[in-house]
This record gives sequence, structure tokens and C-alpha cells, in this order.
Amino acid sequence: KPFVVGLTGGIGSGKSAVSDLFAQQGIDIVDADVVARQVVEPGTPALQAIIDHFGEAIVTDSGTLNRPALRKRVFDNDLDKQWLNALLHPAIRAEMQTQLEVATSPYVVFSVPLLIENGLDSMADTVLVVDCSEETQLARATRRDGSNIETIKSIMASQASRQQRLEKAQYVIDNNGELSALPPQVKSLHQQYMQQSAQKSA
Ligand code: ATP
Repeated sequence: KPFVVGLTGGIGSGKSAVSDLFAQQGIDIVDADVVARQVVEPGTPALQAIIDHFGEAIVTDSGTLNRPALRKRVFDNDLDKQWLNALLHPAIRAEMQTQLEVATSPYVVFSVPLLIENGLDSMADTVLVVDCSEETQLARATRRDGSNIETIKSIMASQASRQQRLEKAQYVIDNNGELSALPPQVKSLHQQYMQQSAQKSA
């Protein structure tokens, strides 16, 4: 089993920017957002279960999950929402586990927006937090998504606080500055994680 670096940070903190840099170092990335889409791709047991439960109208003409339709169906129906979570959460967790196990790089970066909130830090050997001020998070996420400030604020309120996240971190990447400040920090961490992974497998 490889050494697993749990990477997290609030909305707009810079997780993608950081995981791209680890990928450039040749490190395999397991991304929770990617896995969440993979488990409902056409042909998966989870998508078939969703079709059996909600009917054929829940997929598009090309057979992919119609996400807006699904969101509408569960929005005001707690039972359907619970049913969907009970289906998807174990499927997502199992697929993450598989991808972590088959990774071939010396260590793996496990990128999960809600790592702390969902207790998935238990699947990681160490936790790395990408950190910036809440004002910066708000500004970057608003600009990227073209969303209004209130929408981003409500997502931030639903996530762990900056303090809660920092308390769980063994290492912190400071992303308050320019993008050019990230590669030196990632390279230094890469050296540390290479050593730690060698110790784990020894
Ligand atoms: P989410 O969880 O919302 O998907 P994330 O943590 O993956 O976000 P990114 O997508 O990496 O965050 O960064 C958010 C936005 O801010 C992106 O548009 C990114 O290009 C930009 N950004 C990230 N870091 C910096 C920086 N240091 N300076 C300027 N812009 C940045």
C-alpha cells in the first residue's frame, strides 16, 4: 500500500493548482471529485441502480446521468436523498480505496475537498492543507465560478472552518501569494514525502 497524502482546503483555496504540481513531479493523484463522477458513468452498477430507482428520465439521450434532473429529484425529498447517499457514499469510498491501492508512484496525493468533514483523513497517512485567507478564497472562487458572493459564502459556511482544517494538518501550503509561490513549496514537500514513503515501505 502506498504512502497516502490527504490534500484538502476550502473552496477556491488552490487544491487543483497544488495537485497539478504534484502530478508534474510524477505523483499519482486520486481526486474525490473525479471518483464521484466515475462511479456513475454509463455501465456502472450505481448508474443502473439510479435508473431503476428514478426511471429512465434521469439519464440524457446519450445515456449519461442527468445531474440537474437528479438534483431536482432529491432537492425536496429527504428519503430519495438518503437513498442516493447510501448508494453513492460506499461506492465512492470503495473506488477511492481501489485507486489508492493500484497507484504506482512512490506516494499518492488523495485530493478531497471534504477530507476532514467526512472523516476521510483516516484513509491518509498525513494531511496537507492548502491555506489562504477567507477573503482570498471568496475572491478567487467568485471569480472562477462567476457565482455571487453569497453563494460562495454559504458553501464556505457548510465546510470546516480554516481553524478546524489547520488543526488536522501536518503540513500547510501557503497560497495567499502569487501562483509562482506554489512550485517551491510543492518541491520541498515532494522531497519530504519521498523520504516518508521510503520509511513506510522499509
Ligand atoms: P474547489 O474546491 O473550489 O474546486 P480548489 O481548491 O481546487 O477549489 P483551485 O481551482 O486550484 O482551487 O483555485 C481556485 C481559483 O483560484 C482558480 O481559478 C485558480 O486558478 C485561482 N488561483 C489559485 N491559486 C491562486 C494564486 N496563488 N493566485 C491567483 N489565483 C489563484
